[in-house]
Parts: sequence; C-alpha cells; structure tokens
Amino acid sequence: MQKDANLSIANPHPKDADVWQKLGLAIAGVGLLVLFLSWGNVPIPAAMGLTIALVGIIGGTTLYAYRLYMRQPAGIKNNGVWFKSLINRGALGWIAGIILTGFYVLLYWYPEYIGYKPNGANEGFVALFDPLSQFFKGKPASQWFLYGTLYTVSILALGIKFLFKYRYNSYQLKRTVSVIIAQLFLAYLVPEILAGLNYNDVSTAQGEYLGYYDTDIKNVWPLDYDFFYEYHLDAMQQEAYQPVGVLYLIIGIAMFLLVTPILTYYVGKRWYCSWVCGCGGLAETAGDPFRHLSSKKLSAWKLERWLIHGVMVFVFVMTAATVYGYFWNTGEVFGLNIYNTFQKPYGFLIGATFSGVIGVGFYPMLGNRVWCRFGCPMAGYMGIIQRFKSRFRITTNGGQCISCGNCSTYCEQGIDVRAYAQKGQNIVRASCVGCGICSAVCPRGVLKLENGPEEKRHDLPPIIIGNKSVELQD
Ligand code: SF4
Ligand code: SF4
Repeated sequence: MQKDANLSIANPHPKDADVWQKLGLAIAGVGLLVLFLSWGNVPIPAAMGLTIALVGIIGGTTLYAYRLYMRQPAGIKNNGVWFKSLINRGALGWIAGIILTGFYVLLYWYPEYIGYKPNGANEGFVALFDPLSQFFKGKPASQWFLYGTLYTVSILALGIKFLFKYRYNSYQLKRTVSVIIAQLFLAYLVPEILAGLNYNDVSTAQGEYLGYYDTDIKNVWPLDYDFFYEYHLDAMQQEAYQPVGVLYLIIGIAMFLLVTPILTYYVGKRWYCSWVCGCGGLAETAGDPFRHLSSKKLSAWKLERWLIHGVMVFVFVMTAATVYGYFWNTGEVFGLNIYNTFQKPYGFLIGATFSGVIGVGFYPMLGNRVWCRFGCPMAGYMGIIQRFKSRFRITTNGGQCISCGNCSTYCEQGIDVRAYAQKGQNIVRASCVGCGICSAVCPRGVLKLENGPEEKRHDLPPIIIGNKSVELQD
C-alpha cells in the first residue's frame, strides 16, 4: 500500500526530504560548521574557510528550498507550523533563541570573545572575515563587518527560500527582491566600496583619524538614531570625505523630512518596512517561519502603543538635546549631561538591547517583528502618518470571509485581521507594515492592499455584524 496515500488534491502531505534536499542541508551545514570551528580557533585558512562558509550557506539553502517547494504545487504551505519544535516555542526554538541572544550580547558588549582585537591581529571568528575586509577596504575586519556580512548572507539565502515559498504571488516576489537588493547594494556593497575609496572611516598616514559616518543611505533617522550626533555631523562635513559626506548629510535630512512623509502618504509605511528596511528585510526572510508567534491579544496591542510611542518620544527628546548641544557647543541641557542622560541610555536600551538582542534574538519566542512592532521609532513615525494621513488601507470583502483565521494567524504585526474581514471593515492600522501575507494566505481573496482616496477610508460598512449582533449604519 502506498505509504502517503492521501485523497486530498488541495493539500498533499509534505514529502520526505529527497536526496537533493539532504545534500543541500549537508552543504549548508558544512558552511555553518566552518564558522563554528573558526570561532574555536581551529586553524582554517581564512580565505578558503570564508568562501566555503558563505558559498555553502547560500548554495545549500537554495538547493534545499528549491527541492522543498518546487516539488509541490504553487501556493503557500504552512502545514504543521504549530507542531514543530523550532517554530512553536519548543526546545529547538528556545535553543535557537538563546544562541541568537547570546551572539548579540557578545557582538555588542564582548566582541573580544568572537575574536575582535582592535590593537592586534584578529583571531577566530572575526579573523575569518579579514580577507574579505582587506579586499574591500584594505584593513582587517571588525565585529561590525562580520555582522554586516552575515546579515546580508542571511537575507540573501533565506530571501531566496522565501521566493520559492511564495512564488505564485507577484507582490511577495517584488518586495522580496527589493529588500534583497536594498540590503546587498545600499547597506553592504556601497558602504564597503565607499570605505575602500576612503570616503569614510579613514586614518591619515600621520595616524590622524578623520571620523566615521554611516553610508547606508536607507538607514533613516530616527531609526538611525545617531545621525545628529556630533561625531557623525562632523565626519559628514570632513573635507577629505567630500563631496560624498555632504551628500549623505543632505540626503539623510531629506529622507526624514520629505521622502518618508510623502511616500508614506501615497503608499503607507510598507514602502520602507516591507520593501527597503534592513530590519524588516531580516524579519521577512530569516524571520518568516516565526511570523505566527506574534501575539494577537488586546493587551499586546495596548503594550505596543505605549512602547513604540514611548521610544519615539525618547528619540525626539534625545535628538533635540543632541542638536542643542551641537549648535550651542555645550555638553549640558537644563543642567543635564547630554551624553549620560540621553545618548548613553538610548544607545544601550534601545539601540543595542531592544533592536538587536530582543529584536532578533527573540524571533523564536515572540515572532519576527518584535522590534518593528514594539520598538522602532521609524515605524512609530510612519505609523502616525499611515493612521491619519495616508491613502493606504486594506479593503475587505466581508461577504466572502469564511472565518478560517489564516490572515490573523500569519499577521506578523499581531493584527486580528479576521475581525475586520468579518465586518467588511477597512483595515487602517498604524502598525500594519503592508507585508501582504494576510492577503496571500487568504483562501477566499477577501483582502486587498490598496492606495486610494482618503475619503471614506475610515468609514464603517453599511451593515456591521459584530459582537452586538447586526447593526445598520447611517
Ligand atoms: S495586516 Fe496584513 S499586510 Fe498588515 S502587517 Fe498584518 S499581515 Fe502584513
Ligand atoms: S484568511 Fe480570508 S477567509 Fe480566512 S478569516 Fe481571513 S479574511 Fe476570512
């Protein structure tokens, strides 16, 4: 008798891993093993080891994902998500969370334990990345170069997996290609090439350090919270870095003041959160298997509003104090030390702990958008525009809804999409990142991401079927 006999034509049982999938897993595993061994200072030639690691991870993941999804009919397969240890807070999920969290703690506060030696030759994990760093900018790697490379490789490898999984949905394909390109070019290659051309982060032959500024053009204030810090403003105006430095200064201010509100008005915050941003890029690719873990409770929604707007107020106050200090050439405001009172707590609590350690380390516990939903001040800023002055909404064809709940389950922002769909009500929520997954997983075509006239965007449908039975609207 056939082992996987199944009468369903819509939802066949997943097949066992075939030999190509196993080969893909083995190749990616070898890549990860090389990273792990290098951390333990096993003597592996750096150039060869790094090549094996990066090519292995990208190639192995691609082969595995290709065989996994292309052997099945097109359509999103989320079979068994609540039964897998890794993605349902089981033992494997906890182990993954602890490893990720531990890695971020070392990266931010103890980089010497991953081999970073600012006053000597790097060792172990960081030393493995030296050849690539030498290639780009003629100096050894830092822990941030290692992190940037692994971050980009994760988005690339798991982005390709995402493309196979959602291949029938053109919106998902376009925005995923967009985040991959944005990360690869704008966040990684362009900054490294500019550093190689001595447009930032340079020391002169006499040993004078000319300063550092961020050359990731899509990292916009207030997400890029140190944009207005004294060292950053000075570096962008440093003579040796012109004309690129001032260009970054002008573009940085224009991105916050003009580009962000205009684009958010026309298409919602999705232009950034789901098409461009690096945090969103990682959440959508590496974090995709964890999206159903976001809490849909009302208490989580309340907490979200307090936290995200609290962080936003914090960054505005901190930046106002910083700018005041810069132009009035003082380290104090109202008798408070600007660094100790504002910058240092923000950097520690929000810049490192919230966005990195919790934001990514807690994917397996709290879902893939913990940072975007609860902490990101950029999301808070755009959310206010999206809620009150935007053309974006998700329209719902309530009559078609069968209340299956797929949309709510896979909404990474914890929005109870089904509740809106059942009432036929437009979804106009500050937190929606416009990922479109609710629409993609809906079996009835109920949900549509739209940009349209502002009028009637907030209106309730003429008939509402809610907790209090049926109500007729005026
Ligand atoms: S409501 Fe839909 S588009 Fe918005 S964040 Fe949730 S799943 Fe994504
Ligand atoms: S996925 Fe579609 S059919 Fe299912 S509850 Fe949501 S809107 Fe209704």
